[in-house]
Amino acid sequence: MAARRLRLDVGRLFAMGAELGSGRRAYCTSQAFAEVLRLPSKQLTKLVFPLQELERHFVPGSKPDLHLKIFNPSLDDIARAESVFTASSWNRIEYLSSAVRLDHAPDLRRPEVCFIGRSNVGKSSLIKALFSLAPEVEVRVSKKPGHTKKMNFFKVGKYFTLVDMPGYGYRAPEDFVDMVETYLKERKNLMRTFLLVDSVVGIQKSDNIAIEMCEEFALPYVMVLTKIDKSSKGHLLKQVLQIQKFVDTKTQGCFPQLFPVSAVTYSGIHLLRCFIANIIGNQETNGFQFN
Ligand code: GDP
Repeated sequence: MAARRLRLDVGRLFAMGAELGSGRRAYCTSQAFAEVLRLPSKQLTKLVFPLQELERHFVPGSKPDLHLKIFNPSLDDIARAESVFTASSWNRIEYLSSAVRLDHAPDLRRPEVCFIGRSNVGKSSLIKALFSLAPEVEVRVSKKPGHTKKMNFFKVGKYFTLVDMPGYGYRAPEDFVDMVETYLKERKNLMRTFLLVDSVVGIQKSDNIAIEMCEEFALPYVMVLTKIDKSSKGHLLKQVLQIQKFVDTKTQGCFPQLFPVSAVTYSGIHLLRCFIANIIGNQETNGFQFN
C-alpha cells in the first residue's frame, strides 16, 4: 500500500517536472545516466540499487527484510529525477549563503532537505556527488575533521533548498548542538533530514545524539550509509543488517529503507536523487509555491 502510494507520488513529481519545464522537454536523460543504462544488468543493479545487489548475497531462506520495495522507482523514474539535479539556464543550482544561527538563514518558502552527520562521515563528498550534474556548484570537501562549521544553503532550481549542516563529534563547534537543534526544531520548510552514518564503523555514540534529536522532534528522517566502497562485502552486509535492525526496532521517525551510497563509485547516488525529488514532488500538494 505504502509502496503503491510512493510510486503514484513519483508519477506526480514527474508531471510537475513537465509543467516546470514548460515548452522544453520535461527531462532529458543525462549523458552520465544514459551510460549507466547501457551497463550490463549486474553492474547496473550494483550502481543504481546497491541494497538489492547486497540482498543477493544473503543465505537463501534467511533473507532479512531490507524493505527494498518501499521506495522502488523504475529506471525511467530515476532518469527523470536526474533533471531536477541537472543545472541549466532554467534550472539554476547554486550555493546561496551560509549561516551560524537560524535567524541568519535565508528565509525561503521553498521546501528544504538537510544533511547531518559526524565530521568525516563523507557529507561534503556525498553532496558533491549529488551535485555532479551541476559542476559549477562549489561544495568544499574538508581535509580536516570538523571543517564545516556553518549551515550552507544550496538552491536547487525552483524545486528546493539543500542544507549542509555542520558535522558533529570530534572538534565540532561548541555551539553545534544549539545551532543544529534549533534548526531541526524550528525550520518550518524542512521536509526531510538525511542522517549520514559511516558504513565502515556503523552507528557511533555521537550518531545516537542526532538520532535522539530527530526522534524527539518527531522529524521524518532517512538513514544514508556512506563509503560503501570501502568495506568488503561481508563487512558491509554485517553493518547493513545491524543498522537495519536498529531502524526497525529503535526508531519511529526513520524511513524504514536504508540508502547505501558511495561518493567514489557513485553507487546509490542516482537512487538518492530520485528519492529527494520524490519528497519534493510531494510538497506540490501541501500548499508550497515554487517561485
Ligand atoms: P565530511 O567531514 O562529513 O564532510 O566528510 P568528507 O566528505 O570531507 O569526507 C571525509 C573523508 O572521507 C575524505 O577523505 C573523503 O575523501 C572520504 N570519503 C568521503 N566519501 C567517501 C566514499 O564514498 N568512499 C571513500 N572511499 N571515501 C570517502
